[in-house]
Amino acid sequence: MRRIFLLMAALLIGGMGLLAAGTAEAAFSDRAKDMAKITGIRIGRADGNVRVVIDSDRPVVYRQSVLADPTRIVVDVQNAWIVPAFKKRISIDSELVSGVRAAQFDETTVRIVVETSAGKDSYKVFALDGGKPRIVMDFGRTPRPAAAKPPQERTPPVLPPAPPAHTDEEEDTTRDTGDVGHDISAIIGLKGKKIAIDPGHGGSDSGAIGPTGIMEKSVTLRVSRELKRLLEAEGASVVLTRTGDTEVSPKGASATSVEELEARCAVANRAQADIFLSIHADAFTNREVKGTTAYYYTKGTKQSKRLADSVRMALIDAIGTLDRGTQTSNFYVVKHTDMPAILVEISFISNPDEEKMMNSEAGIKKIAQGIADGIADYFG
Ligand SMILES: [Zn+2]
Repeated sequence: MRRIFLLMAALLIGGMGLLAAGTAEAAFSDRAKDMAKITGIRIGRADGNVRVVIDSDRPVVYRQSVLADPTRIVVDVQNAWIVPAFKKRISIDSELVSGVRAAQFDETTVRIVVETSAGKDSYKVFALDGGKPRIVMDFGRTPRPAAAKPPQERTPPVLPPAPPAHTDEEEDTTRDTGDVGHDISAIIGLKGKKIAIDPGHGGSDSGAIGPTGIMEKSVTLRVSRELKRLLEAEGASVVLTRTGDTEVSPKGASATSVEELEARCAVANRAQADIFLSIHADAFTNREVKGTTAYYYTKGTKQSKRLADSVRMALIDAIGTLDRGTQTSNFYVVKHTDMPAILVEISFISNPDEEKMMNSEAGIKKIAQGIADGIADYFG
């Protein structure tokens, strides 16, 4: 331990010396462009389990190893640097995990060390890419998919290659991370949450129509279906207000607009969903107007605002749209739902570029991933 500490101190002091020289600084910022930036470490806890999430600005490759006496799980993130202002030590009041440390280990490696009492079968480490790349370390009881219902058919998340053999003499074992990808159900986070998703419009109501004729009702349904798939893969249950190109009200096309919106709220309220999201695309007479907006009810709760902020920010991260902020409104569906509720205007279907993005398979996937990431952030 002491040796590592001294080594890190030496690197730190050496590093500061280098940064004092302007040329070295320029060289670093040059190099940093090609490196992943570690932007944060989040700790989640539930039922005695602990989850450590390492956020980065792009997908990373890491090596995982175990140090003995006391047991420490080490994740070396390759070709990465850590934001200097970052909190380097986090103490955790848990029997399983007592602390997490993060530091720049060498010029191109960020080392995360978790002090833990977990045995080798009671933790796992895996990477999730998508809108917000991250490495997840779960400590505690890990429900095996075989014991529950079979996992959904889906493409497994991109896993890092099996870690190469170690040369660092302090590290006595390496562990294969190959089997963790199929069980990405979170110990905490989305697992067990019930989420109501409302694909805006449908049936006789096309919603807004883009310059090339793309209809809002079809974008919202495609996004909602993909979002359902992503959320279910992370252990949430999802109820859609509609699954096809139809009205939600049993009265169909003859329902008044209030009856139609009432029917959508009723689906969420009956299901006693934890949260409600209504998915829409915006439109304006001026085709230049673009961007992403999230709404919650004017007299809504703090949770609704937090959900709106989380989803909006993660969605913008995923699709790079203009940020039009979180706004309040009296939209029927956010007003008459019993749970934290938001309405998301993905972007403007009246804008030719955004219409094209929202009608592409890649765009739909990014949108759904962004919204799913925002929901995961909301649940922590
Ligand atoms: Zn709409």
